Amino acid sequence: MHECPHCKRESISSLQKILAISPIQATCTVCQQKSYIHIIYGLVALTVWIVMTWMLIGLAYWFQMSFLLFGTLPALVIAIDRYLIQAPLLKVQY
Ligand SMILES: [Zn+2]
Repeated sequence: MHECPHCKRESISSLQKILAISPIQATCTVCQQKSYIHIIYGLVALTVWIVMTWMLIGLAYWFQMSFLLFGTLPALVIAIDRYLIQAPLLKVQY
């Protein structure tokens, strides 16, 4: 669970946090207030994933091992885990 920026309780799930990058803001289960992740963290995660995907495509082509392309899925998980889950949640200002 992740800390709510409003009430500082560990009340936001990882799935809520990932979705908080989109217009679906994370709603705290304790104080019902909304928070979000700045779009820049989503762009960083996406860029990291694209770079890793191209590296895997390069390796798969170079070594003639197409199974390396399956590495794009764990690469996506790593990109989300490192850059989206770790990103700070911001308060939604009205
Ligand atoms: Zn809260």
